[in-house]
Amino acid sequence: MSLPPRAGHRDPNDAWVDCACGRRHWGLAGAAGLLLVDGSTAPDGEPRVALQLRAAWSHHGGTWGLPGGAVQTGEDALTAARREAREEAAIPPDAGAPAAVRVLDHGTWRYTTLVARVHGPAPELHPLDGESADLRWVPVDEVAGLDLLPAFGEAWPALRRLVEARPTLLVDAANVVGARPDGWWRDRAGATERLLTSLAGGRRELAAGAWLPGTWFDLDADGVRPDVHVVTEGQGNPAAPPDGELTVHRAPGSGDDAIVALAGRLLEAGADPLLVATADRGLRARLPATARTLGPGALRETLERG
Ligand SMILES: [Zn+2]
Repeated sequence: MSLPPRAGHRDPNDAWVDCACGRRHWGLAGAAGLLLVDGSTAPDGEPRVALQLRAAWSHHGGTWGLPGGAVQTGEDALTAARREAREEAAIPPDAGAPAAVRVLDHGTWRYTTLVARVHGPAPELHPLDGESADLRWVPVDEVAGLDLLPAFGEAWPALRRLVEARPTLLVDAANVVGARPDGWWRDRAGATERLLTSLAGGRRELAAGAWLPGTWFDLDADGVRPDVHVVTEGQGNPAAPPDGELTVHRAPGSGDDAIVALAGRLLEAGADPLLVATADRGLRARLPATARTLGPGALRETLERG
């Protein structure tokens, strides 16, 4: 892989900030880091995370943290996290699917952590630019035992929860489509397809508004990309589901029966937590006790904002 030359290049945002919190931080436009998660190769299923041992000469040298650095001119924080991970650790920008974003906001400075999940083989980590003394895939149980960068150590309990959670959204399409009198009854399949497109399209975008609120999933995150499952039924079954990272289940009979059965299967498969979007009180009463529920209005407003 060839990298753009960095020699001689200095972004005006590469500078210290005297923060309102009394400390100094790197990056006039804030900083960002990538928390890349590999859940596929650990023998006992314990996820591993990609950590960087900071070079001795650097700020808090000799401690472990995330690949990351200052947000540059004309760049958003999520792009910055990916760029820094590529420059410092040879992590390809598409190495992981975005799973969560968490922002530590001091007012005068902010640090954005992008949690991304590897599907498939984990990339090899190589120190590239002199800021890393070492890079390793570390099992989550071993992270707290390392000498951590103080700010990363403070954030780790919350980040670990984001690494281990499996937020999953199950959408009752008929109920969500039917919650607003916008003429959906004239073309039920078309109305369902529009809902699917907004769910799938929103997940492809990296824009901040396309993320679902962490509070919906009881997670300490500013945005979450859950696994999305949609149950459709009857005349609302779509002719052509859109491409995207969601799974459409066409119910052969009662949508409610299909949703109850699927909720049980998703929880058994590790959904944590499971959030079911429906206003149907009868259905809500039949769901497993650990399932959370969400009203259709909140879901549609968030998708439309994104
Ligand atoms: Zn601060």
